[in-house]
Amino acid sequence: MPVQMRIMLLGPPGVGKSVYAGRIARSIGIPHISTGDLLRSQMKALDSNSDSVSLLRPDEKTEVARTMESGSLVPSEIVSRLLRRRLELEDCVRGYLLDGFPRTVEQARSFAGLDAVLHMIQYPDIIIEKLGGRRVCPTPGCATPNYNIVHVHRHGIDMPPMPPQVPGTCDTCKSKLIKRPDDDSSTVKKRLQLYESDTLPLVELYRARGILVDVAVAGAVHHWIPAAWHILGNSSKTSI
Ligand SMILES: [Zn+2]
Repeated sequence: MPVQMRIMLLGPPGVGKSVYAGRIARSIGIPHISTGDLLRSQMKALDSNSDSVSLLRPDEKTEVARTMESGSLVPSEIVSRLLRRRLELEDCVRGYLLDGFPRTVEQARSFAGLDAVLHMIQYPDIIIEKLGGRRVCPTPGCATPNYNIVHVHRHGIDMPPMPPQVPGTCDTCKSKLIKRPDDDSSTVKKRLQLYESDTLPLVELYRARGILVDVAVAGAVHHWIPAAWHILGNSSKTSI
């Protein structure tokens, strides 16, 4: 019977969840499942000959396309159903690392599959500056999807940039990097407010369940990862 490690990264938009999640998941050998990426790749699979498994019904795809275009959040029930189908795939047998779900207390109450929650903490002004410099690779499933071109240095925090080797170009697949429209500062402020009202209550919920670990994000990813690794090893009854 394989050991399961079911982890979730909880933190505000722009704190760097997907970067950390990707690296932690790779080192443990479990899939990193971002509900945002999952939705985007499922929507891409609609128009191409992609061999990725289709997990959304046609009527669900229509609904997702409509909400994504209008800039609203995809309905909770669709995200929950999609995630449930994704977690049934064979690669999740040893566990998974979730990023972006559960997003609300309601979702958290109906989702029991977590052994540890890493709560990433960051100053809002650092998040706004950092997101302004974020660039992403548009290729679904690319091994190096995230970059950042700003060097943040304040509040005693030093976060060096993570630029691509060639400006504007993905290191792995050579696609042209893009700036996500929702990374503009006015949209980021709105997303931070939404996080505070809808998602922050999860912190207390998971703390009460005894599976929450607070982590202040203070430096570069190579400093942060060993700390997260240590915390996970200590918080889990399993060995990782
Ligand atoms: Zn790429």
